Formats: sequence, C-alpha cells, structure tokens
Amino acid sequence: MLIVMHKNASLKDIERVKATIVSMGLRPVAIPGSERTAIGVIGNQGWIDDGPIRNLKGVLDVIHVTKPYKLVSRDFHPTDSIIKLDKKVSVGGKSPLVVIAGPCAIESREQILRVGRFLKDLGVKVFRGGAYKPRTSPHSFQGLQEEGLRLLSELKEKTGLLTVTEVMSPEHLNRVSEVVDILQIGARNMQNFDLLKEVGRTKKTVILKRGLSATVEEWLAAAEYILLEGNHDVILCERGIRTFETLTRNTSDLAVIPLVKSLSHLPVIYDPSHATGKRSLVSPMALASIVAGADGVMIEVHPEPERALSDGPQSLNLKEFEGLFKRLISLENFVKENL
Ligand code: PEP
Ligand code: MN
Repeated sequence: MLIVMHKNASLKDIERVKATIVSMGLRPVAIPGSERTAIGVIGNQGWIDDGPIRNLKGVLDVIHVTKPYKLVSRDFHPTDSIIKLDKKVSVGGKSPLVVIAGPCAIESREQILRVGRFLKDLGVKVFRGGAYKPRTSPHSFQGLQEEGLRLLSELKEKTGLLTVTEVMSPEHLNRVSEVVDILQIGARNMQNFDLLKEVGRTKKTVILKRGLSATVEEWLAAAEYILLEGNHDVILCERGIRTFETLTRNTSDLAVIPLVKSLSHLPVIYDPSHATGKRSLVSPMALASIVAGADGVMIEVHPEPERALSDGPQSLNLKEFEGLFKRLISLENFVKENL
C-alpha cells in the first residue's frame, strides 16, 4: 500500500500516519520525492483495510500495490538507485557504465594475476572470478573454493581492483564477504530464499542474476527478499533464459533491460557470456545492451579460452576483450550524447 500525502500536509500529519501504520502491526517506509510526500507500507501478507488511514488528516490518496514486490518497485522509489562500490565507482542512474570482467572460474595464481593485471591496465574497475562454481555435472571442475578466495584477496591487494564472486551457500557467506566487495547470487540460486535473506542481512552489494527460467516478476520478488532484510544495494543481472532454442546456450532477453528499469529503480547489468554461450555473439550483444540501457556489463575473459576449465566457448581472450572494451567506451559516449 502507498499513502500519498497532500502537498501541504504537516510533519505532524505524516507522523500520525506512520504511527497508525505501526499500530496496525505494519512497517512504514519513507518514499523519496521532491513533488510529494508518500509513505509505503510493508509487512502485510494480504489486503489491508485502509479505513484507519484514509480518513487521517493530510492523506490525499491510498493506493493498493498488488505486485509481489514493493521495495524494489518504482512506486516505492521513483528515482534510479545509485549504488556506490567505492569512493570513485558507482552503478546506476547517470553513473558511467560499469564493466565487470574476468574468468568464469579462478584456476590458478598465474591465471588470475595475468588476467587481473591486464584488465587493470586497460581501465576495468571490477574483476569477476568464481571460487565456488555451480556446475551442472558433479564431475566438472567445482572451483578452487577456499584457495580461489585466497587468490582473489591477493589480486585485490596487488591491483586494487574491486572484486565479485558467487556465493552458493549461507555456510560460505561470512568468509566470502571478508574477501570480496560484491556478492554474486547465481542464476541457479535466484530463488534460494534462505541465501537471499542472509545476503540481505549483510552490507555488501549483491549482483542478483536472473534465474534460468524466471519471469521478471519472480526475479524482482527475489530481489525484494534481499531489500526486505535491509540491504538495498542490489544490482540485477540479465543472463539469458532457457527456451526451445539450441543454437545458443540461453536466449538473450534484452527487452528486459528497459522493462525492468521501468518497473524497478535498481541498476540492471547484462551478462552476454552466459546469455549467448558463444564467443562470437558476446561483443555484438554487449554493445546492444548499452543501447538498450544497461548500467553495466559482466563479461567472461580467459587468457586461453580453449583451455578454460569452465565456460571456455563463451570466454573472450585478452585481445578480443580489449577490442570490445574500447568499443563499449566509445559506444557509451555516443549513447550519452545522442540517445
Ligand atoms: C557465472 O557467472 O559464472 C555463472 C555461473 O553464471 P549464472 O549463474 O548466470 O549461470
Ligand atoms: Mn561462467
């Protein structure tokens, strides 16, 4: 439920509304906005009788929100959320495009340092690398796990890059949080509600990938679990969905970028590597996502993709990534000036 106050409602009127909401066993949420004062209501699991609120002094309108998400919606937060990753790097709103790059999995000290230094020299700010890998087959490489985390912290120390890695289970959350700046919730865990609640209790930025066959509403409702626990720093990541098509690994759903940005204030980034599964499609789709309005991209890069222990066929080599990175930056400038 959303309560819209009269323009000339007094502070006392607003406080009275909030107190009434609390007395109904619900939680008031201040909604920012220069034009109007509005108060969101969360904590109800069904229809709320708005009688006690509608007639209070200063109340202009009461709007019932029937969506399965509230805090992530534009109704509750009309302006774009801007998430600060550090003093210089932020994501969302009019922030510069954030480019996140690195190997699917951390495989060795030599590999991570080589890729990390290369990316740092190019001007990339955020490094990705999997330590715990959610593989379809238990016989596939599962990631270096604790050793991978140790290598990620060494990379961070040596290069100053911001880092992101996937957290697959609440059991690893504390340790992963000690090491990285950003937690990734993978597609397979998008509806692992206990994990979502746990990351919601941290102060870490979370990249929430869209589930393999998740609708937009399910994806936004998953993000709502994180915000409800108090962590509002969530970046949504489109990574393709499962369809009948077999020539691509997933079907790349670029329309969700403008769609989700109209429904939610959260930043949206795009992962063309998993969305296509094919190296040749990564660059064109990454570029297309910028025109579609993505706030950033996440791209898999490997020094020798043909030898990669996971996701080699969709990984760019260093030279290919360098070419794409330069084109992304010039396209970003073009889009800013012309679109
Ligand atoms: C990944 O980023 O390497 C990954 C496993 O992604 P997703 O969860 O989108 O499959
Ligand atoms: Mn991968």
